[in-house]
Amino acid sequence: MNVTLRWGAATHAGRVREANEDSFLAHDMVFVVADGMGGHQAGEVASAMAVDVLRERLTTGAPSADVLVAAVVEANAAIFQTARRNAAQLGMGTTVTVLAVVPGSDSTAPHLAVANVGDSRTYLLRGGSLTRETVDHSYVQELLDTGHITEDEARNHPRRNIVTRALGIEPSVRVDAWPLPLVRGDRFILCSDGLVDEVDDTAIRELAIGHPDPQTAADQLVAAAVDNGGRDNVTVIVVDILDGDDPATHDPATHDFASTEPAAHPTAQFPVTTGGVAADPLAPDTPQAVGTGRRLTGRSAQITGRTFAFLLVVAIVLTVIITLVAVAVTRSSDSPAPTTVPTTSSSTPASTRPTTTGP
Ligand code: MN
Repeated sequence: MNVTLRWGAATHAGRVREANEDSFLAHDMVFVVADGMGGHQAGEVASAMAVDVLRERLTTGAPSADVLVAAVVEANAAIFQTARRNAAQLGMGTTVTVLAVVPGSDSTAPHLAVANVGDSRTYLLRGGSLTRETVDHSYVQELLDTGHITEDEARNHPRRNIVTRALGIEPSVRVDAWPLPLVRGDRFILCSDGLVDEVDDTAIRELAIGHPDPQTAADQLVAAAVDNGGRDNVTVIVVDILDGDDPATHDPATHDFASTEPAAHPTAQFPVTTGGVAADPLAPDTPQAVGTGRRLTGRSAQITGRTFAFLLVVAIVLTVIITLVAVAVTRSSDSPAPTTVPTTSSSTPASTRPTTTGP
C-alpha cells in the first residue's frame, strides 16, 4: 500500500501576543504542532527544539509508535537540559502533538501513530464527524473527567490554559501515543490551543468540511481563531489521507478515542506510555511559564480510565498475594500454635459486653 498524504499548514501570532511561540513541522511522514511557554522568547526556543528533534528522528516516518514516543522523550530531555544551563530559559516548556506515518514492515501494514503531551490536539474528521484523537493534559480536562464541569464550562474556564504535562519541565515525561489505521478520506487536524480557545468543535468541523483543499482549510481555521479574538498564538495543520483502507470498513464510532467515557481512552488499548513517571510534580503554586500566561500545576494522581485500570490490576495482584500469604501463615501456624484461639477469645474484656446489653 502506498502512503499518499496531502497537507496544509498555517500559523499566526494572534491579536494579543507580540511573539508567536508556537512551532510546527509539516513533512512527508511527520506532522508536529508545539506550543511553547516561558518568558523572554524561551517558549519559542522550547517549541522549536521539540520540532527539531522530531524532524531529525522521524523524517522517514516512525518505525513504530514506540520510536515516536522515544523521540518525544528525547525532545523533553533536550529542552530540560538546555533550560537548566541557561537562566533565561529556566522553566521553559512546550506542548506537542505528533502525527507520524509508520511505513510498516514484513509483519505490519502501514499505519499512523499519534502522540501528545499537553493540550495541543489532533482531531480526526471522518465521514463528516469530528472526533478528538488526543486527550488534553490540562486542568480543565481533569475537571471534565471527574464530572466537575461541562464541556461548555471548560471552554470558558478562567484556568483553561493550565497544562498538567509539558516537555522540558521535568527530566522525564509521560507520553500518550497510539496507532491508527490509514483510512482513505480521513482528514487529521493538528492544532495549538489558540484554535480551541476561539473556535468550538462544531465550527472546526464546519470549516474543515467546507474547505476540501487542506491549505485553504488550515488558513480558514487560523483566520477564524484570529477573527474570534486571537487571544493566543494559533497553529493548524490539516493532513488528508489520500489512500488506505476503504472508509466503509471503519466505523467512526470505534475511533472516538476522546469520548467522555474515561475507559475509552486509547492508551488503555495501546499503552506505549513511557519515559518514566515524574517522581514529584511541581507544587501547585509554583509559577511557571509566565511568558504565555500559562502555569503548570502538578497533578500526578489523575483518576483517568488508565489510572483506574492500573489500580484495578494492582488490587487484583495484591489480593492474590495477600491470599497466598494468608494461606502460608495459616499453614505454618497450624501446628505450633493451637493456643492462639483461646488466648484471643479470653483476652476480650468480658466486662464490656454486659454494659452494652443493659437492663
Ligand atoms: Mn497556546
